[in-house]
Order: sequence, then C-alpha cells, then structure tokens
Amino acid sequence: LDFRFTSEQALMRTTVREFAQREVAPNIDQYEEGAAFPADIVQKMGELGLMGIWVPAEYGGSGGDNMSWVTCLEELARVYSPVGSILLAHSHAARVMLYAGTDDQKREHLGPMSRGEALGAFALTEPQAGSDAAGIQTSARKDGDHYVLNGEKCFISNWGVAALYVIAAVTDPRPGERRISFFIVRDGTPGLHLGVRDRKMALPIAPTGNLILDDCHVPSQDMLGVEGEGLRIALAALTQERCGNAALSLGNAEAAYEYTLGYLKNRIAFGQPLAAFQGIQWMLADMAIQLEAARLLVYEAAWLVDEHEATAAKQIAIAKTFANEAAMRITTDCVQLLGGHGYMKDHPVERLMREAKLWAIGGGTTQVQRNIIGHYILR
Ligand SMILES: Cc1cc2nc3c(=O)[nH]c(=O)nc-3n(C[C@H](O)[C@H](O)[C@H](O)COP(=O)(O)OP(=O)(O)OC[C@H]3O[C@@H](n4cnc5c(N)ncnc54)[C@H](O)[C@@H]3O)c2cc1C
Repeated sequence: LDFRFTSEQALMRTTVREFAQREVAPNIDQYEEGAAFPADIVQKMGELGLMGIWVPAEYGGSGGDNMSWVTCLEELARVYSPVGSILLAHSHAARVMLYAGTDDQKREHLGPMSRGEALGAFALTEPQAGSDAAGIQTSARKDGDHYVLNGEKCFISNWGVAALYVIAAVTDPRPGERRISFFIVRDGTPGLHLGVRDRKMALPIAPTGNLILDDCHVPSQDMLGVEGEGLRIALAALTQERCGNAALSLGNAEAAYEYTLGYLKNRIAFGQPLAAFQGIQWMLADMAIQLEAARLLVYEAAWLVDEHEATAAKQIAIAKTFANEAAMRITTDCVQLLGGHGYMKDHPVERLMREAKLWAIGGGTTQVQRNIIGHYILR
C-alpha cells in the first residue's frame, strides 16, 4: 500500500488551495448575500484546467486522474463548497458524454466544457422520481431524424447557466421495457424552458431549478449512447460522481473542524481556553477520528475508480455514506462548540452545516447508498 499522492495529485491540491484562497475566499460574504452566478470563477477554473481534469487530452481536457478531481473538489469545499458543486454538476454531464458519446460528440463538446466555455448540467430527477430513477416520466418520441422530448425535470444544478443539458428521457414506454436514453440539449433549444428557480437551504450562488420540456425537438445525433441504455450509463456515471460528492463532504467537515479548533484554543471560559477541557477534547478527538476515516475511505474510492476496480461501486457507496454522515455530525458539533456564536453568520460553521446536508441527499441519498451496499453484500 502506498498512501502518498503522486506529484501531479500533490500539485493539483496546492494549485486549487491557492486558487480558492485567492479568488474565492474574499468573496464568500458577497456570495452568501445572494450575489450572481460566479461566471468569472468558472472562467478562471477553465483556464487552470479544473473544468476538465479527467477529460482525456485528445478531447481537450487536462488528462488527469479521478483522484486529482476528488482532491480538487475537497480543496474547493474547504473554502466554499458551492463552487465545488458547480464543478460537480458540470463534471457529471461531461462524464456521461465521455462514457457514452461518439467520437464526434466528445470532440464537439468536451473541449469547450474543459475550458470552462460551456457549462454542463445533468438532468435525471423529476418531481415524482428521484431515488427511483427508473420511474422517470419524461418521454422522447422518435419523429424522423429528431426525438421530441416532453416532461419536467427538477432540482437541476447549473440551472439557467448551463450551455448543455444532458437529459434523461424514456424512449420505450412499453410496460417492463421502460428503456431510458440520454440526450444533449443545448440551452436555447425551442421547447426547452427554464421553470422556477429553487429557494434552497444553502449554496445561493449555485442555481438549481425546474426544466420544462414542451415538444422539444432534439436531433437524433444528439442522443448519447445506444437507445435504451440510459440507466446503465447513468449508474456508471453516478458511481464516479459520488466520489466527488463525498469529497465535498470531506472538505466541508475539514473546514469546520479547523475553524473550530482555532476558536477553542482562543476562547477563554472558567479561566482557561475551552480547548483545555477534557469534555471538549473528546469531542475534538471524535471529529478527528471521523475525519481520518472519511478521508481514507474517500481516497480509496477515488483510487478504485482510477483502477477500474469492479468493487468500486460498493466502496464508493460506503465512502459517500460515511463522509456524508461524518460531515453532518462534525459540522453540527462545530456549531455546538462555538455556542451562540456558532449559530451566527459571523462564523462559517452554520453555513458549513447547511451545505453539508446537501451531500447526504444529492447523488443518491444515504439510504439509497445503503441499498447499494446491501445489494453487494448479498449478491
Ligand atoms: C440542491 C440539489 C441539487 C440537485 N441537483 C441535481 C441535478 O443536478 N440533477 C439531477 O438529476 N438531480 C439533482 N438533484 C436531485 C437529487 O439527486 C434527489 O433529490 C435525490 O436523488 C433524492 O430524490 P428525491 O428528492 O426525489 O427523494 P425521494 O426519492 O422521494 O426520497 C425521499 C426519502 O425517501 C428515501 N428513500 C427513497 N427510496 C428509498 C428506498 N428504496 N429505501 C429507503 N429509503 C428510500 C430517501 O432516501 C429520502 O430520504 C438535486 C437535489 C438537490 C436538493
């Protein structure tokens, strides 16, 4: 076993850490007050090669590995996870293209996406079907050299700012044959309408909302992969996306822990720093244990993806569940340890707690991850 990062992975960490501190950190208050989408940050991330870290160089990406991408998301979340969530959703769309697209589709889209010129969004969830992805109702009817899409998508990240939406729809509605396919739908395509923007608990600069598909004509050549193979494609892409989701949890938890540790060393109560009390040290120790375990699980999952290991899906579900839940426990305890100050927006811990909640829901809830783990245990 070798637990060291390669020089490329270590460089990625340093690069993203410095970038996030320099470009993102000074704007967090403004972002939290409801500032507009940070298009300038996306552009700079594109210039740094962060928008297409694992996209092969032949398609215009940085040609890096999954571990570097995971490290990038972790570092972004240590500073401000909404920026990481923009990258996560974008990467999800790019990944479906990479897995299922034709050479022409990859050459057309992955270069602009990797340079940050075209933002991607992944649209699977519907008002009546989230965890039960096979239950989506959006239809795609073949009509000559087009498909006609009708339906509604909800909670779609990068809503209203994406140039390319990767949308799942049912191409074969026969009972028992609910075969799903993915389509690339360009922003501005007639029949693709932005519905209502969501009002969320956190991540104000990362827009999510509904998409309405109303007789949206999509050229057949914009279908991704073989017709009817959409669920298989989605599951493969989701597996890798979950590593990124877990890395955002990890970054949130690390940020809260480090901030709280500094606070406890300086806050005096009963004549000594709070950190000197054993009851508080035990809480810190519990956090450190959870952080260390989460970090190892997330890195192992990322490594398994790079190694194309068949066991990756189970390990990723384990890593995501553990990291998601550890982040909730740690950020909640950090709010507690700052007392009344923790409840105030003058300190970042309440924001980190609100952000952490999303990772346990998005990308497949922690219950769904347990279903996956159970499936692999019993198979
Ligand atoms: C901010 C945000 C951004 C998002 N971005 C995107 C996006 O970009 N693209 C996209 O397609 N989707 C996106 N989603 C949707 C997200 O993936 C779903 O919300 C999630 O998968 C859960 O689906 P649901 O909301 O329909 O909940 P439901 O499926 O209705 O689940 C409700 C509850 O029941 C539990 N549950 C469901 N089934 C089972 C089961 N079999 N066993 C045990 N418990 C179960 C769930 O764990 C959950 O606790 C986003 C969501 C949010 C909140």
